[in-house]
Amino acid sequence: MTAKILVVEDEPAVRDMIVFVLTQTDYQVLQAEDAREARVRLKEHAPDLILMDWMLPGASGVELTRELKQDRVTREIPVVLLTARGEEDDKIRGLECGAEDYITKPFSPRELVARIKVILRRISPHVSDETVVAGSLCLDPATHRVSVEEDVVDLGPTEFRLLHFFLTHQEKVYSRSRLLDQVWGTNVFIEERTVDVHIRRLRKALEPYGADGMIQTVRGAGYRFSEMALS
Ligand code: CA
Repeated sequence: MTAKILVVEDEPAVRDMIVFVLTQTDYQVLQAEDAREARVRLKEHAPDLILMDWMLPGASGVELTRELKQDRVTREIPVVLLTARGEEDDKIRGLECGAEDYITKPFSPRELVARIKVILRRISPHVSDETVVAGSLCLDPATHRVSVEEDVVDLGPTEFRLLHFFLTHQEKVYSRSRLLDQVWGTNVFIEERTVDVHIRRLRKALEPYGADGMIQTVRGAGYRFSEMALS
């Protein structure tokens, strides 16, 4: 599973460079040249991270960040401010508006990618590329493959994301709405029972390997992934 990144930058040359670097790193990339366009993108997509230029025509990157952090739908999306300014005061002001981090221009492609990776790992561990294991189950995000010993488990894309989330968040109970937020994205509006449908499919896919019992229903609360069998 690759992370989706929204790039808000008005300078075409800088935007093209960032988009190129991110695409090469296998991220999915969305683009906007100003705050207005960014709002349109955010109505259609739920990016995992936003790279936000500070100086934009119209509303500035700081103003837009403040606005996004006040909106229930977008407030969880980490924002990295891109700033040409070097002054410490501005950096602090940038973080006060709710941005998670900032990168000072000019930056190298390597630096950009490294910072993005750190933030994604910190904020949403389920989009990391590391292989995760539970019992005999092994999920490799890089190859998008789930296996049990030599067998490859056949999973749909949603079941894969759901399992990836569970494997990286074991032993905790998640409500249906929380799972929708975490697995489907914060600004997607789907009925909660959709979660049950995908849980059922996931269990069915895991059943032949005796691993379906790890996805547990917690009555009145939601679902939990645990290697410990229910008694
Ligand atoms: Ca600019």
